[in-house]
Amino acid sequence: MAKKQFKAESKRLLDLMINSIYTHKEIFLREIISNASDAIDKLCYKSLTDESVGMAREDFCIRLDVDKDGRTLTVRDNGIGMTKEELENNLGVIASSGTRMFRDSLSEDEAAADVDVIGQFGVGFYSAFMVSDKVTVITKAFGEEQAWKWESAGADGYTVTACEKDTVGTDVIMHLKPDADEEDYSAYLESWKLKELVKKYSDYVRWPIHMTVERREWDEKGGEDGKGAYNTVSEDQVVNTMVPIWQRPKAEVSDDDCKAYYKEHFHDASDPVGVIRVNAEGLTSYKAMLFIPAQAPYDYYTRDYQPGLQLYSAGVMIMDKCPDLVPEHFRFVRGVVDSPDLSLNISRELLQHDRQLKVIAGNLEKKIQAELKRLMDEDRDKYLTFYNAFAPQLKYGVVGQYGMHKDQLKDLLLFYSVREDKLISLKEYVDAMGAEQKKIYYACAETNKRAAALPQAETVKAAGYDMLCLTDSVDEFVMQMLATYAEREFCNVTNDDLGLESEDEKKQAEEKAEASKELLDFVKESLGGAVETVRISHKLKSQPVFLTTEGEVTLEMEKYFQSLPGVPDADRIKAKRVLELNGAHPAFAALEKAYNEDKPRAARLAMVLLAQAQLIAGLPLDDPAAYTELVCGLF
Ligand code: ADP
Repeated sequence: MAKKQFKAESKRLLDLMINSIYTHKEIFLREIISNASDAIDKLCYKSLTDESVGMAREDFCIRLDVDKDGRTLTVRDNGIGMTKEELENNLGVIASSGTRMFRDSLSEDEAAADVDVIGQFGVGFYSAFMVSDKVTVITKAFGEEQAWKWESAGADGYTVTACEKDTVGTDVIMHLKPDADEEDYSAYLESWKLKELVKKYSDYVRWPIHMTVERREWDEKGGEDGKGAYNTVSEDQVVNTMVPIWQRPKAEVSDDDCKAYYKEHFHDASDPVGVIRVNAEGLTSYKAMLFIPAQAPYDYYTRDYQPGLQLYSAGVMIMDKCPDLVPEHFRFVRGVVDSPDLSLNISRELLQHDRQLKVIAGNLEKKIQAELKRLMDEDRDKYLTFYNAFAPQLKYGVVGQYGMHKDQLKDLLLFYSVREDKLISLKEYVDAMGAEQKKIYYACAETNKRAAALPQAETVKAAGYDMLCLTDSVDEFVMQMLATYAEREFCNVTNDDLGLESEDEKKQAEEKAEASKELLDFVKESLGGAVETVRISHKLKSQPVFLTTEGEVTLEMEKYFQSLPGVPDADRIKAKRVLELNGAHPAFAALEKAYNEDKPRAARLAMVLLAQAQLIAGLPLDDPAAYTELVCGLF
């Protein structure tokens, strides 16, 4: 019979497994048992609503069987099984999230060199090839008459043929490799070894794992002389305790256990930055184990990402991702909630309105909030790792839903401080303010460096004040939504009144503006509607010009609106531009002179100044060639 080929990526993973020099090959058992357990979960879930399954919860189990002579280890389950198509799709290609993650994390040569990554998360079914030279899968899917046999001796392909099997479920038969110098594959035929591995890696699998265990028993009348001897008796044992990790007392479960569980079950290569355990008793009792990831999944900021926590009721999973358990602004949190109070066969729609669920979600939100705050205050490095990955999420949380959650989230934000040269919280900014400083200064730009180099930043710095740099497009909306922090107003240094001029300075500027009114009108006219207003600035120190805005929409917001796809140009929201001129700058004197002596030249100078203002504000020039010509024309 013709062999079918594995898809290229699967083949690579398979090669890696077969040739693995990985020292923890024993994890294959965890992977195969975990698949068996998932398959039982699926059928058990079905049995809640479909009587034709004909199984009670107690009937489900996993079995480990060994055949020492045949050198095979078999993992059997009476779960959902696989149809012929599923066999091909699931075992012929890398379908799973776990294995895909694994594949993504390997560079071309890494596959050979650094295989330690294997231990970090579930690598799935193929790991059987670390210890087997042939794997046979016999399976019958629920609802099907025909059973199927999948078989592969490795990378040269696999076969699928029809076969006999009485009951629904799957047998994975691993033909163990011959022992080699340092590899004792025969150990996987010993019941003590298998028991040890189940205890170590699969103890909390929710379904009983049965095994025939050999035990030595003293027989008083045994032995040739009838004086007693040890007999070996075989008995069927359930080798796992079946208590899921989140159900076990905190004292029994180490931090490392929790982290390992997270990486394995949520397919993440990094340790979480925080683990939250809840054991609530009372009107609504539940246990929860939540994780705050250190990095965003590759699809986190796309529509593909599905938020939500796993929901169990008395040990049976009723939903893989229940979105109602975590608020939108904490949608990065992963984990498990288990409550005996939830009805098992409740539909998803009803679940949404479930009062118990709302209570749980409300409590979890507080716990997550508290854990993030704790990390922020007590373990800033970890918090920064988290913040690098999820800051946009928190910021959208502040802005979203009309600012409903802003007070809850404002103390989780960090912004770059010019004075500290690092990210600081709003509280830290305010705590460092002197009594005379009235406002919280910030500037928006593409980079921190650009923000710090803005002309107005000079003024703020000269006054001895710190300034925050905002570089995310959502940042400015965050500031507008917050409006104040600890009763101090936010001040956008490019747009708002800095509140730093003395009465004298203000008066001087007004006089200057009055005296130059004609010139300012002329400049505005020369610029042909490019700006709304031209005025003398009180904020500029060493720079000749600056572009700012009046009204609600700032230049940063305009840039953000510009970046939205699919909006016709005419409908785009634009900022009302204001050109500010530094009345004390030699450039202004030159402009005045030209205005009095050579009006066309003055008009050209006005255009050059506008272009410079645009460049400083980080805006592109409409026509760079025309600008160059304009400048050269002044020589
Ligand atoms: P993962 O378990 O991470 O999805 P695997 O490579 O281990 O990846 O398995 C691929 C798929 O094969 C599973 O998602 C499941 O659909 C199917 N599968 C594996 N083992 C079994 C089993 N014992 N019973 C039913 N389906 C299984």
